[in-house]
Amino acid sequence: MRCIIFNRVASFCRKVLNRDASDLDHEELALQVYQRQEHGISRKDISENALKVLYRLNKAGYDAYLVGGGVRDLLLDKQPKDFDIATNATPEEIKQLFRNCRLIGRRFRLAHILFGRDVIEVATFRGHHSDAKPSIKDKKNVSAQSQEGMLLRDNVYGSIEEDAERRDFTINALYYSIKDFTVADYVNGVEDLDNRIIRLIGDPETRYREDPVRMLRAVRFAAKLDMTIEPTTAGPIKPLSTLLQDIPAARLFEESLKLLQSGNGLDTYRLLREYNLFQQLFPLLAEHFTEDHSSQTEQMIEHILSATDKRIADGKRVNPAFMFAAMLWYPLVTRAEEVAFASGLAYYDAFMVAANDILDEQVKTIAIPRRFTTTIRDIWQQQTRFSRRSGKRAFKMMEHPKFRAAFDFLEMRANFESEDIAELAQWWDKFQHGDRNQRSKMVQQINEGGSGAPRRRRRRPQQRRKKPQAKSS
Ligand code: ATP
Ligand code: MG
Repeated sequence: MRCIIFNRVASFCRKVLNRDASDLDHEELALQVYQRQEHGISRKDISENALKVLYRLNKAGYDAYLVGGGVRDLLLDKQPKDFDIATNATPEEIKQLFRNCRLIGRRFRLAHILFGRDVIEVATFRGHHSDAKPSIKDKKNVSAQSQEGMLLRDNVYGSIEEDAERRDFTINALYYSIKDFTVADYVNGVEDLDNRIIRLIGDPETRYREDPVRMLRAVRFAAKLDMTIEPTTAGPIKPLSTLLQDIPAARLFEESLKLLQSGNGLDTYRLLREYNLFQQLFPLLAEHFTEDHSSQTEQMIEHILSATDKRIADGKRVNPAFMFAAMLWYPLVTRAEEVAFASGLAYYDAFMVAANDILDEQVKTIAIPRRFTTTIRDIWQQQTRFSRRSGKRAFKMMEHPKFRAAFDFLEMRANFESEDIAELAQWWDKFQHGDRNQRSKMVQQINEGGSGAPRRRRRRPQQRRKKPQAKSS
């Protein structure tokens, strides 16, 4: 980066020497080209598959650039998550070049080049909508906008300059050319990268209205890259935050994982909350928010996100089901109490009704796929069974496929709930690690009503003592 700053000064001086002073204002936002020796990106930092795609497009006579997060992260000396490619070849032309190509997306038509599990995304340069000229050859070359200004389709093709202007942030609009290994910057992205600034290209309000997910992306990059959102880019976020309600829940599920399960979940959550964005994604959790972030729900969110960040930092796998189960746990406990109170159902039945209610409501904003909601329900259901350990129950419980996750969940709850839960977690910890003999003895003690076995039903968690909130339905 230091090398870039130096070279920027050098290139600016060259421009000053070569051009009229009157050109300078305009010059600030004109194309800046960084030579190979100026930017430090080397082909060995780029994945083999991305290079293959770049070379093949180029050989067939098309322009081909690495763009987006790949270039941004390489300039920041970070390992890119994926490599995105931009070209002047249309999706159909790309498909003709690659046998392993799938065209995807209606709203935003893209080519995916598949190399086993590695997918290289290739996008055709986007153009401006006002002068949209749909080509006869490509009937999908059209745009559409909702009454609120949201782009329903963005398939107008254009030049590289136009493509740069259609991208979200200046730091995401840098183009690495495979032809001459230069980096082209049409929007002062390198300067913003140097100054660690997240700046939307164009008029922020219009750009957020076109695609409200850009608000989430601004926060995601600020947290992930430890950058500042520039004031005119940050200003409209809170007032426009409710626009996220128009985004399909399936897209918000994908985004929520990128936000919360990419290693910076805690910082991202805090920023999202500041901008009233988290509240749009998780309205059920927002009902439990307090001024001083002290409710059990808030403590649990912070706990699970910091544990998730740590697992990712340690190279361990993370399961979205566990995270969602944890975040929604106290809203569930509160809801179960309300259902039991209103319906007179036994606690276990009320709990399961509440579990379904909570998941039904959550999937309206974030479409958590069924394979995860099944696990979430399992983890929750097991919580109601941990206290029943007599006879063969404890042995049977350990055979449940989700026992490990459910036990980890119980241990986590012990951080926020009554002593009973901590004792229960300790009992199960000992039971799991004991041999057959020790386990039988532990169960025998339970059968006799002995140590570690609360005689009456498990005490209700603390939050149940709170006055129940009015039920909406
Ligand atoms: P990541 O490290 O998460 O992959 P990224 O910037 O590469 O970050 P992608 O979602 O892979 O993000 O998108 C690739 C590029 O496509 C972005 O860098 C940006 O230039 C452009 N882009 C993505 N989403 C949008 C959007 N909603 N509006 C405008 N441009 C976008
Ligand atoms: Mg990317």
